[in-house]
Amino acid sequence: LAAGVVDDSGHLHSFLVEATRADEGPEPVLARLFELGRRAIGQEQIRAVGIACGGPLDAARGTVSPLHLPGWQDVPLRALAEQTYDMPAVLENDATAAAAGEHRFGAGAGTANMLYLTLSTGVGGGAVVDGRLFRGGAGNGGEFGHVTVDWHGRLCRGCGRRGCLEAYVSGTSIAERAREAGLETSSAEEVAAAARAEDPVAEAVWAKTTAALACGLTSIVNLFEPERVVLGGGVTRSGEQLLAPVRQRVRADAMGPAARAAEIVVSALGDRVGVVGAAAIAFEKEGARG
Ligand SMILES: [Zn+2]
Repeated sequence: LAAGVVDDSGHLHSFLVEATRADEGPEPVLARLFELGRRAIGQEQIRAVGIACGGPLDAARGTVSPLHLPGWQDVPLRALAEQTYDMPAVLENDATAAAAGEHRFGAGAGTANMLYLTLSTGVGGGAVVDGRLFRGGAGNGGEFGHVTVDWHGRLCRGCGRRGCLEAYVSGTSIAERAREAGLETSSAEEVAAAARAEDPVAEAVWAKTTAALACGLTSIVNLFEPERVVLGGGVTRSGEQLLAPVRQRVRADAMGPAARAAEIVVSALGDRVGVVGAAAIAFEKEGARG
């Protein structure tokens, strides 16, 4: 859980983080979330509450049934926030909000067409198309993690199909593939470190990671012809070890004009992208209301 006060230049006035403890169920988690929000606000004057949450959710109705929070079913998160803080609240899918945050305040600033992918426990995505945030029908569009990179491939925990990008490049999947290959490791970070130390098994796992990411990104870049692709999430802490081979491969494999246009960069907002992104959504709604 994270909460913070963000001004309309994207600056954070406060930022608080706390473990979710999802096993406690909705009510205690919500109580702690709203208390975290109160502490983040402190004496600040705020105008609106932005909430970013993992999907699936219904952004129009303001309800969430997040896969990563067992027991949450159609929780009316937006209405609860409006009651708690007595002000307007907006709700958005976390990766969509992150895309909005990077576009308004971060690595995607100044572009008309931009994609955001988070490589974390799972793989989420968001897009800005012709200067506007793409949401899909109920706010669950842009699921770039479930683009197929091998239709006979690994089972995807997120959606149940085979060969999704997420099944290769999420932090969870990288660590899992490394263990299957015989490495004793618990995280993608350790796999990356072992590959840098030239452990041949880790190098092979890492090469497959960058190849799978480049394969998925190539398809997505061909679809959108973005000016910029922003990558965030824990896996991107490996920096150029991840980005350099992916850039090279996407440039070689994507259709000419799209490949030349797309710049692949790392997130500017880092672990604050959720909070800043949620605020970007609130500012966007405020702007639309005039
Ligand atoms: Zn999937």
